[in-house]
Amino acid sequence: MLHEGGIFGFLPLDALAASCIGGTPPLRSRLSASHTMPFDPHSIRDQFPILASEVNGQPLVYLDNAATVQKPRVVLETSLAYYEETNANIHRGTHHLSQKATAAHEAARDRIAHHLNAASPDEIIFTSGTTDGINLVANILTGSISAEDEILISALEHHSNIVPWQMLAQRTGATLRVIPVLEDGTLDFGAFQDLLSPKTKLLAITQVSNAFGTPVPVKDYISAAHAVGSLVLVDAAQSVAHKVIDVQDLDADFLVFSGHKIYAPTGIGILYGKTSSLENLPPWRGGGEMIKEVTYESSTYNELPFRYEAGTPNIEGGIALAKAMDWLSDLGLPSVAAHEQLLIETAAASLADVEGLRFYGPSHRQGSLSFNIAGIHHYDLGTLIDQMGVAVRTGHHCCQPLMNRLGTTGTVRASFAAYNTMEEVEKLVNAVKKAAMMLA
Ligand SMILES: *Cc1c(COP(=O)(O)O)cnc(C)c1O
Repeated sequence: MLHEGGIFGFLPLDALAASCIGGTPPLRSRLSASHTMPFDPHSIRDQFPILASEVNGQPLVYLDNAATVQKPRVVLETSLAYYEETNANIHRGTHHLSQKATAAHEAARDRIAHHLNAASPDEIIFTSGTTDGINLVANILTGSISAEDEILISALEHHSNIVPWQMLAQRTGATLRVIPVLEDGTLDFGAFQDLLSPKTKLLAITQVSNAFGTPVPVKDYISAAHAVGSLVLVDAAQSVAHKVIDVQDLDADFLVFSGHKIYAPTGIGILYGKTSSLENLPPWRGGGEMIKEVTYESSTYNELPFRYEAGTPNIEGGIALAKAMDWLSDLGLPSVAAHEQLLIETAAASLADVEGLRFYGPSHRQGSLSFNIAGIHHYDLGTLIDQMGVAVRTGHHCCQPLMNRLGTTGTVRASFAAYNTMEEVEKLVNAVKKAAMMLA
């Protein structure tokens, strides 16, 4: 892959911009080996009303997509249309509207199952987000874990893929072990193999690091963990908008993500659970929808996926999520990903000559570019960049242990989506350079 200061060292940014919007094919083909159609972000920006905003008198440059991504109008309209035309509670009424809402809700489940290539829509459980899905799995595994057992996570995990496992370890007496991260922000696969043993009952691992953009070859981790009889949960929050996910090919037992990171609203998420891994696990939350029969003495529980969907779900959110997946598939996820890759690599190459700038993560990154400048606090840098209209994230990115490990309290993170342009990369680079001069 391309390294910082690589082929862009001698190219002005507008040449790069031209290449991004279809100018010079040789450069593009050197950058992405994948055989994808060139993608023009300008063709979709109109679909995002918020991108026309101004911040501090400057046009908004939104580069905080790893925290949450903006929503295209078609998704927003889907939410509104649901309330205007369909709103009713599901799986309950015999009346027309209730049946219409139920059908739309279940069609969304089918669509999402198809997007992930799940073997059955029964493996798709609606949650409120990644955090909710991980907590659900951590709770239903309580009875399967004993004090001699071990739970494995990686050093790259988001707090929401750390804390629920700590709580599970506290409940059960099991030991939580951590796959170490190397200096370049990748995981130590050899150390992971050494940590695996018949005591390993669960591996919880991210597919892409939200802090550094490190892509993790989770398939290798999954097969190695399965070989010792462990279950595996994949945190796909940061990969779902940038990668085609095939849950049957990955063979994870559980995979979770949030709708708001894949162009859908907040408050909706998905837990994929392989039928054979989920079917013998107990319910967690009790309430309506998850039961078959209730008496005051006891209840019998519904089958999958309803057993894990207590209470009225976010009906509109699920339908909007399915629409967001349609929208992204129509654009072509591989083309969008290749476009984002070009933006990241260009930003990295253009920032590489800033004095004292250090990148975190490997030279091949997905979605996010994380860095610091020696002697400048990430918060000061982020604040100044924001004043120039460029929204980036600063801080620990919900990965405090990882930051500690790499000897920093946080970084500046620029993260990219389909609608970001090469002109915006140029604005980021200029803003960072200007801020660095002002703060030096
Ligand atoms: C955003 C994120 C989460 C948490 O998602 P919520 O929507 O806050 O539940 C977990 N893991 C990763 C890798 C993330 O990027």
